[in-house]
Amino acid sequence: MTTASAYWATSATDPLVPATIERRPVGPNDVQIAIAYAGICHSDIHTARGEWGRTNYPVVPGHEIAGTVTEVGSAVTKFAVGDRVGVGCMVDSCGGCEPCRMGEEQFCVQGNTGTYNAIGRDGEKTQGGYSTSIVVDQRFVLSIPEGVGLDEAAPLLCAGITVYSPLRHWNAGPGRRVAIIGLGGLGHMAVKIAAAMGAEVTVLSQSLKKMEDGLRLGASHYYATEDPAVFKRLRNGFDLIINTVSANLDMGRYLSLLAIDGTLVELGAPEHPIEVPAFALLTNRRSFAGSIIGGIAQTQEMLDFCAQHGLGADIELIPADKINEAYDRVVASDVRYRFVIDTATLAGAS
Ligand code: NAP
Ligand code: ZN
Repeated sequence: MTTASAYWATSATDPLVPATIERRPVGPNDVQIAIAYAGICHSDIHTARGEWGRTNYPVVPGHEIAGTVTEVGSAVTKFAVGDRVGVGCMVDSCGGCEPCRMGEEQFCVQGNTGTYNAIGRDGEKTQGGYSTSIVVDQRFVLSIPEGVGLDEAAPLLCAGITVYSPLRHWNAGPGRRVAIIGLGGLGHMAVKIAAAMGAEVTVLSQSLKKMEDGLRLGASHYYATEDPAVFKRLRNGFDLIINTVSANLDMGRYLSLLAIDGTLVELGAPEHPIEVPAFALLTNRRSFAGSIIGGIAQTQEMLDFCAQHGLGADIELIPADKINEAYDRVVASDVRYRFVIDTATLAGAS
């Protein structure tokens, strides 16, 4: 057992505070990681604030983890001390069911084990990446390729794979018109990755405030959804729409932007159910779909793709004592485009 300095949420309403947590001893298949950076995903905020109604406090959030291997178990073959590695949203799954065997561990029939706010198969509570170290089974550890900084790589472990997986599944590429709703953490990676895949990318943001950035990130077009005329103008105009918005939207208006056989993929996980008007789907034989992160093999593929294309997240590095402020800024859509915690500022914070 080792201890780690961390930041945790103790209730839905109190700010996150410093804490000291325990990490399990390194087992034969385990990798111990000194965490250097941890991204702040909007899911951390939904969880810390109890918006999904299933938070087991206290919880150390953080599932965008990047660092260096400090110890490996006797049966570890994939990693060695000193390797640059990452951990995303899952730290375990049964490994034997069909989805697991197909590399879709996120759909494990027994349920995958979340990096935080879950109970591991050893019966212990999992605690996430806002901490100085973590111990993870080698099957759920990713290699961070040379050429991508650990700080800009951290957000790829959730935001990156969450957008990469549906972009691949629904064939984003040359000749495909792809719209991204929301230019936040997920959204900005979706723009970069979809553009790198060769799609024609449009950003649908609430305002034009971030237009220059959107175009720099790879979008060809940028519209403000606060202008109702935009929905008329873009009607039937997209093959694929990726919705990264953390709040409820008027889904009928966005579905009306899909061309024949187009698909709107929901990635956001708002607190309240989403209403989908039937006629918006019937028209143009549209699909309304969802997607959740991606499997481990595809996560490695995404990291390699990002390295090949020179992609990392655009980040704002913060010390631990700015976590609560960062949460408020994310909720206010005031993030460009991912807050990343420098975990060196956690050590000794408790
Ligand atoms: P984020 O950084 O806060 O980005 C969300 C963006 O949505 C904002 O930057 C904003 O962009 C837009 N937005 C926010 N409130 C809005 C509103 N009321 N109306 C219209 N647009 C609004 O969040 P994130 O970390 O990217 O996460 C986004 C959502 O995806 C969260 O619900 C999160 O839990 C979920 N998520 C899902 C998965 C999955 O596997 N499916 C994985 C990770 C996260 P503009 O300013 O450009 O409008
Ligand atoms: Zn996330």
